[in-house]
Amino acid sequence: MSDLKSLYQDIILDHQQEPRNFGILPDAQCQAEGFNPMCGDRILVQLKLSENGLVPRFTGEACSICIASASMMTEEVEGQSPEQARNKIEEIRDLMQGKKDHIEGDLDALSGVKNFPVRIKCALLPWIALKDALQQCKLKSGGEEK
Ligand code: ZN
Repeated sequence: MSDLKSLYQDIILDHQQEPRNFGILPDAQCQAEGFNPMCGDRILVQLKLSENGLVPRFTGEACSICIASASMMTEEVEGQSPEQARNKIEEIRDLMQGKKDHIEGDLDALSGVKNFPVRIKCALLPWIALKDALQQCKLKSGGEEK
């Protein structure tokens, strides 16, 4: 019971019930899809790089952990540079692999997921899609970005 509670924290439930930045981004510059066959999660991450930083959106059908992780991901990287977003992806990966115990902000709610190995892929899926989308943006801009 207390274990499950650590998985489904209030912050996670809140993001799952009211996902932030959910929907299609009409003028997206790049996008990537993530699929997790273990759970059936499918997430599409779209990005636009404005002068105020990244504008992220996501859509898809996925379990609550995956949706919550995607929602928190978009909140986290909104307005950031691609470089900052990439650092955040590394942080989340370290958190899931147990190299890091905690992380700043709402994302720390995901720290309970590492105790449920089958759900780690669910939590990481949106971040992997984000990484692929960032890579696409980079290719499109000829590898130049700042
Ligand atoms: Zn899942």
